Amino acid sequence: MGCSSETEADDRLRVVATTNVVGDLVREIGGDEVALTTLMGPGIDPHQYNASEGDIQRMAQADWVLYNGLHLEGRMTDLFPEMSQRGVATTALAEAAIPDSLLIPSAEFASSYDPHVWFDVALWRKAALHVGERLADLDPEHVATYQQRAAEYAERLDELDTYARDQIAQIPEERRVLITSHDAFRYMGRAYDLDVRGLQGISTATEAGTADVQALAQFVADRRIPTLFAETSVSERGLRAVQEAVRARGFAVDISDALYGDALGDADTPTGSYEGAVRHNVETIVSGLSERAESVVGSEPMAIR
Ligand code: ZN
Repeated sequence: MGCSSETEADDRLRVVATTNVVGDLVREIGGDEVALTTLMGPGIDPHQYNASEGDIQRMAQADWVLYNGLHLEGRMTDLFPEMSQRGVATTALAEAAIPDSLLIPSAEFASSYDPHVWFDVALWRKAALHVGERLADLDPEHVATYQQRAAEYAERLDELDTYARDQIAQIPEERRVLITSHDAFRYMGRAYDLDVRGLQGISTATEAGTADVQALAQFVADRRIPTLFAETSVSERGLRAVQEAVRARGFAVDISDALYGDALGDADTPTGSYEGAVRHNVETIVSGLSERAESVVGSEPMAIR
């Protein structure tokens, strides 16, 4: 290859990913062979995200636009077919990689399914293998590299799946209740046997009402659930209201360190990777639901006097 003096052209495959969850898969499997742009950073709520002019330009100039789909990126829905019409390869990852029979039905989304597929690690493994195949199709020069990385990453996800299962199984069964700001964890709940309840419903586009807060507070007090779980991409306001309503019922409930729900952490920190975020979430859930359980068992719940 000749070395041009005026331009150092980057001829790598240009990939645009919407969320940093989806982007992480491209980073893991595409590595340095791919020029990756991720539109949504840490703490960004994909349900509410509007694409900027710059985002639209980057997508239009990409070789491949990878998004979660199932209406997760609710305000960008019309953009993807538009990109496709302009000749850009586009993939709705959750729709392409995961059979409908494994999706959780939900009337709240135009897709009819809950889009938060990633915290069932076995499902995300399917997504990883799909990304490997698509990268190989789009950039045949690096087929072997993508195949190898996808296979290795799938093995790591197998270990992660086992880890999550083993850890969560340590929580006493009657305490395996995960109450979060919004319903991003139903797949995780189904995979690892956690009863999952979101205050806000499945999308952040609708706010929880007073009746929701009171009903959830009653449930928490009745079941003596020690911890509510915050999320990095959702305001804690709703959970604070539940905490207050629980207190009014004579029981104290904690609010946890934030879980990574719809977004991963900062790119240069451990939770900037999917694996790191899953481990953080599992540790936070296990410590939130187990530790205080010891002190509550055999005694009255902590009463507010
Ligand atoms: Zn969500």
